[in-house]
Amino acid sequence: MPTYVRTDKCDGCKGQDKTACMYICPHDLMKLDKDGSETGHAMKAFNQEPEQCWECYSCVKICPQQAIECRHYADIVPLGGSVQPLRGSDSIMWTIKFRNGTLKRFKFPIRTTPEGSIEPYAGKPTATMATINNIGFFTGTENGGVTAGFRPGNRAELIRL
Ligand code: SF4
Ligand code: SF4
Repeated sequence: MPTYVRTDKCDGCKGQDKTACMYICPHDLMKLDKDGSETGHAMKAFNQEPEQCWECYSCVKICPQQAIECRHYADIVPLGGSVQPLRGSDSIMWTIKFRNGTLKRFKFPIRTTPEGSIEPYAGKPTATMATINNIGFFTGTENGGVTAGFRPGNRAELIRL
């Protein structure tokens, strides 16, 4: 169920050194074929190892041209159907195309704070480094930070590379 690039839509991210799909792929699968020597499509990106694709949809969501699609399993998206996201600053608009041509769209919020901002604690107690060895030190309040039923952490059990 890997992704593929629609060459009719991809603009090579306007020739930037690193395209959006190359930047976001956690497995470094996306590649820009600058001179067309690898795919026959110059300045178009492609998934260079589809069998290694995590199907994480990150490239599909980030592509500013909606040029990347995913070959879904037939029971989720039958042949001829598609699921395409359009990212906004606070939501994603999903366009679902059924194989009979029916289109459905829905908007899904993706942020609780304005773009570029974050509230790491968001009403929860602020972390205290002095209690880092205790279970539940981030949000736990029972037993002074040790949640009932769990034992405290043991630094000696940490994996060290
Ligand atoms: S992010 Fe989209 S437009 Fe940019 S190179 Fe990749 S497929 Fe093409
Ligand atoms: S779906 Fe994920 S793993 Fe696959 S090419 Fe896109 S970003 Fe990379």
